[in-house]
Amino acid sequence: MELLQKFKDVLENRHTYATKWKERTGGKVIGYYDTYFPEELVYAAGVLPVRVLPRHEPDDVTDRLMYGNCYYTRDMFNNFIRGHYDYVDGIVCVEGCQWLYNAFDTTMQVRPELFSHYMFVPDFVDGRRSKDLMLSEMKIFKGRLEGWLDKEIIDSALDKAIAVYNEHRQLLRNLYELRRFDCPCLLGSEAMDVVLACQIMDKEDANRMLKELIPALQEREPSEDRIRLMLLGSETFDSNLERLIESLGGNVVIDELENGVGYFINDVAPLKNRLMAIGLRYLGKPHSALKDSVWRRRPDQIYRLYEDYQAEGVIIAKQIYCHPHGTDMYTVWKLLRERDIPFYTFERDTTLPIQDTTLGIEALIETIRPAVVRLEGWSKA
Ligand code: SF4
Repeated sequence: MELLQKFKDVLENRHTYATKWKERTGGKVIGYYDTYFPEELVYAAGVLPVRVLPRHEPDDVTDRLMYGNCYYTRDMFNNFIRGHYDYVDGIVCVEGCQWLYNAFDTTMQVRPELFSHYMFVPDFVDGRRSKDLMLSEMKIFKGRLEGWLDKEIIDSALDKAIAVYNEHRQLLRNLYELRRFDCPCLLGSEAMDVVLACQIMDKEDANRMLKELIPALQEREPSEDRIRLMLLGSETFDSNLERLIESLGGNVVIDELENGVGYFINDVAPLKNRLMAIGLRYLGKPHSALKDSVWRRRPDQIYRLYEDYQAEGVIIAKQIYCHPHGTDMYTVWKLLRERDIPFYTFERDTTLPIQDTTLGIEALIETIRPAVVRLEGWSKA
């Protein structure tokens, strides 16, 4: 479908998109590292926030500078030193995992001319003092942006940014609703292309395209009947895993990834104090593996999504050396085992180990719905 291809093109040619945006608007671009980054604040300043997404290329540097980091963050840095992010005017890291911070910090060392800022987002997001701390961090960040851009970020600009972002998140939720149908008119790989592309795009552009795409998808023929799967694990950066799953007769109907559902699941509730309103949206996001160390709400939210989207099994794709998901894994396994949910866990880097992953996914799919062809073979044996 042409409209879906447009999103895929943005994702594949993301540096071209941002460079053209700069030429068209004369604005600046900030690269950000994590979904706790308060994009509305930057957007209100007329700056385009672009999520730094890794793409693997041969690498002879990060072993020395980032040994022990996950490959997701190594490739982020590698993409910077190869010049792919030369159009970026600034980089901002919010409190996420230590490897994200290390990618940010190492990039600052090789690109010291960039505007750079680190913003703390409380790890105990529900803590009593978290709101005040978040508000004070938002104020500091706003002040830094205003100093850098030499302009004030006024309330009306914040209101507009909040409205654009809330509309955007609603549109993405509407898009995901199409995946709840028995035979969805949108495959998991297509949905992931759209959501990732949106993290790079100007949200007014993205909203225009989504408003065309969603009605058009509803006129589309439903997909064939496939095993309905849920995807969990570390952040993602492309849809190759979803495509592999589709080639094996499955379909990811829902995810609980930080840059999947975690990107758009809740809105900013308007408040007179705009910074507090934006801060509360990020603190109130469903807990990620990083921020779920106290109340352990993540398993419940995973199960709710699993049921809502009528998934039949779970795939957990964890990045090698991803300690947030490594340490949170036991709570997820416990949930899946208690509920008799079939699942397959594997580790990967920014490439996909095709043979091993194929075997694992095939085994999961056959556990859920044993293939007739295999049973026939069994009876002849
Ligand atoms: S994959 Fe894991 S370790 Fe790597 S940046 Fe993401 S959360 Fe951090």
